[in-house]
Amino acid sequence: AAKAAGKNRITLFDHTLRAERLHHAEIAAGLRQALARDELTLNYQPVVDLTTGAIHAVEALLRWTPTDGRPVPPDVFIPVAEDTGLIVDIGRWALERACADAKRWHHRHGIAVTVNVSGRQLRERTFRDTVLEVLTRSQLPRNALTLEVTESMLLATTPDETQRITDVLADLRAHGVRIALDDFGTGYSSLSYLRTLPVDILKIDRSFTAPLTNTDHRQARAFTKAIVELAASLELRTVVEGVESREQAGVLQQMGCPLAQGYLFSPPATATQIDDLLQVTPWQQAA
Ligand code: C2E
Ligand code: MG
Ligand code: MG
Ligand code: MG
Repeated sequence: AAKAAGKNRITLFDHTLRAERLHHAEIAAGLRQALARDELTLNYQPVVDLTTGAIHAVEALLRWTPTDGRPVPPDVFIPVAEDTGLIVDIGRWALERACADAKRWHHRHGIAVTVNVSGRQLRERTFRDTVLEVLTRSQLPRNALTLEVTESMLLATTPDETQRITDVLADLRAHGVRIALDDFGTGYSSLSYLRTLPVDILKIDRSFTAPLTNTDHRQARAFTKAIVELAASLELRTVVEGVESREQAGVLQQMGCPLAQGYLFSPPATATQIDDLLQVTPWQQAA
């Protein structure tokens, strides 16, 4: 009987695997047309200065709505875009779009734009030139662009490749572009990457945010506080992601955390909605 059950389980597993593979192929086929069909857009989520309540920057976040009208979440299509290499063209498009939109926001309000970059893009030999070229053509000042990278993008790379990527980031940084380490605290050997990667901004992953106001999680709070203080002493700015309540924002403010991002302030919004938000600076009084 146990043997039969085991067999069933394997069969079930196989089916799931096949379904996933089909799904993957379907997404890849759709994505291949997405740019040409104008199905990709960018949303922007404000990064808020916790002491003034003003918008400090906006993070560009990809959205994909295929012809059937049902949006596919980034957590589903970005990994496929990375596997297929489509992320190189899609990422370039996102960078161009973000810099074009950010130009007027920077000009009128002095805010920066942050763009997520995947490991696959960073490993492209042309990455550095692409970024500088897009910046020049968009006429966005270089220091108004932040690239968000993760420590996990270095996982599958050889030491030589890690060195090359580090050099590219350092080079871009020398040109004025800022570098942020995204999803900090979720990867491996976080602290060692902090020493080797040329970064300006640390984005603490949102899994640290919910426990901030939970009295059973005093340790979690101590951990976040330690990261914020370590970052400050390394002259890095800290952004805490996924702030959903006033209580969480209050705790972070008391810790001396300079910047936060989350549904409390705004979900990712369209460029037009950001235009409107920048007119009203809604969190001035909240701070
Ligand atoms: P990320 O870079 O860590 O972006 C933050 C994610 O958290 C976004 O999910 C955002 O909508 C979500 N978020 C923001 N505030 C809150 C909150 O208060 N509560 C909760 N529960 N979630 C919040 P989204 O837009 O679904 O993007 C998911 C991931 O997809 C991003 O994580 C990023 O890694 C990737 N991604 C998005 N756009 C791009 C892109 O243009 N290029 C690349 N390479 N990756 C991208
Ligand atoms: Mg990000
Ligand atoms: Mg990310
Ligand atoms: Mg993140």
